[in-house]
Amino acid sequence: MMAVEIFVPQSLTINLWVVLFFATLIPLLAKLSIEANTRRVRARRRRNGFCERCSYDLRGLASSRCPECGLEKVGRPAVVAIDRQS
Ligand SMILES: [Zn+2]
Repeated sequence: MMAVEIFVPQSLTINLWVVLFFATLIPLLAKLSIEANTRRVRARRRRNGFCERCSYDLRGLASSRCPECGLEKVGRPAVVAIDRQS
């Protein structure tokens, strides 16, 4: 009868640098993904006329500051009435 040898390692060694690499890479990728999503959401809010922090509707407001959270509006200036009489 023929014996079949199966290799069973006595101990499993894990390279510490591999562990360190993935332990660093995964949180880094998560952080970059969250930041990219936050930038995308804020840009969409700003583009549609909403406050980029609290998404308050800023359309039609003459003030350049959000009345809800106080964030200064950046980008296009607020709608200003032009007095053509003077
Ligand atoms: Zn706001």
